[in-house]
Amino acid sequence: MSGFKLLINGELVDGDMTMDVVNPATEKTVATCARASEDQLNQAVAAAKAAFPAWSATSIDERKKAINAIADVIEANGEELARLLTQEQGKPLADATGEVFGTAAFFRYFTSLDMPIKVLEDSDGRRVEAHRKPLGVIGAIVPWNFPMILMAFKLPPALLAGNTVVLKPAPTTPLTSLRLGELIKDILPAGVVNVIADANDLGAPLTAHPDVRKISFTGSTATGAKVMAGAAGLLKRITLELGGNDAGIVLEDVNPKETAPLLFASAFQNSGQVCIAMKRLYVHESIYDEMCDELATLADAAIIGDGLEQGTQLGPLQNKMQFEKVKELIEDAGKTGKIIAGGVVPDQPGYFIRPTIVRDVTDGSRIVDEEQFGPVLPIIKYSDVDDAVARANSSPYGLGGSVWSSDTDRAYALADKMEAGTIWVNKHAELDPSIPFGGAGMSGLGTELGADGLEEFTQLKIINMAK
Ligand code: NAD
Repeated sequence: MSGFKLLINGELVDGDMTMDVVNPATEKTVATCARASEDQLNQAVAAAKAAFPAWSATSIDERKKAINAIADVIEANGEELARLLTQEQGKPLADATGEVFGTAAFFRYFTSLDMPIKVLEDSDGRRVEAHRKPLGVIGAIVPWNFPMILMAFKLPPALLAGNTVVLKPAPTTPLTSLRLGELIKDILPAGVVNVIADANDLGAPLTAHPDVRKISFTGSTATGAKVMAGAAGLLKRITLELGGNDAGIVLEDVNPKETAPLLFASAFQNSGQVCIAMKRLYVHESIYDEMCDELATLADAAIIGDGLEQGTQLGPLQNKMQFEKVKELIEDAGKTGKIIAGGVVPDQPGYFIRPTIVRDVTDGSRIVDEEQFGPVLPIIKYSDVDDAVARANSSPYGLGGSVWSSDTDRAYALADKMEAGTIWVNKHAELDPSIPFGGAGMSGLGTELGADGLEEFTQLKIINMAK
């Protein structure tokens, strides 16, 4: 495959360097793509800065038209983008197709929002109005687990609000973003969106760049802390969507056979590489053995393979580093608990790990306390539900969590006690572009999606007039 150039100032340009992108299912090169130098990053920021005055002066309807046109082009090229996403990311083609068309839907959702002037007071003495103004150049930094949809948390609200963007995908999954750059080149005025690819070396200079007014970042907590430090000098706006260690609490009144498939999907979708995957499962002692057995049966039955092969339910880990990290955690989990399904797939290329179930394990072990970000689920036995809630809340993370029960009043009361940005009842990891999303504690700062997510790409400006 060729192409995969940078988009800078409306032009597709070669990188000053190139890099190989590896298919995690085969460990073979999918494509060699452009890799930007710091000089090219600076050109991209300069282009975005130059494009800002004219773009921010367009009407919101004009910007909506452009955002809808991007959605159209994503849909029109959906099959190609989905195949590319599977090849660079590893996820099954059906999931990749869902992500690509979901991306278009997220773009369209934002065109349903407006930014009207709000009149806060109109009295004899004064008129006070709240306006929402664009910020300027936005740096959008995306990780490798959902390269398309996570980009769609950022680009459409940034553009709708009148900002311009420099988009930087993760080094191991740049191809879909570069291809998107090519597809939208003629939809937007030059410089409004720029797409660069790096080898993990341009996130820091993008964050520190004096002409970038906000960083919208999704990735690990460790890198998020670096972004916060890098943005501090110039008091840049930041939105940080970071790691999580979501707990699910299962009450004794559920039917294990019926609930297990839902729990399984919550934990293992995208091979567990989901920020809001269920990463720790607390199950009441009265149904513990049965639930462990049900989940192990599902894990044993799952079809693992190359995402392009029909029937594949779970793909590989996305990159070698993550593969090694999860392998190490599984090895440790074998010492602190009992592995009843799964493990590394030996003697074949690709970063494959079967869905792994760990039982007889508890808080204080690495597999429970750390974010595994892979296909491993520790199941923890509890007898007192308040204790389970306290343990769920004891994590420094606070992205999501869930309660599972046939008694929704009881589940609601427990959901109220759990501390995280989102708590689901009898489901987990449901995202919708109209529902605000953000993390508590070390899972992040700020909000994405919904009207709140749009406001984060604006500056509040008050006009206060004497009468
Ligand atoms: P990562 O932090 O390693 O990388 C994320 C992005 O940051 C990449 O594009 C990377 O190149 C860039 N980057 C690296 N160093 C940087 C720096 N110093 N300054 C700025 N940017 C820099 O994360 P990852 O391993 O790609 O992603 C996995 C993590 O992301 C997991 O912890 C997961 O939970 C989290 N995540 C969170 C959400 C959420 O919405 N909360 C969603 C998806 C993933």
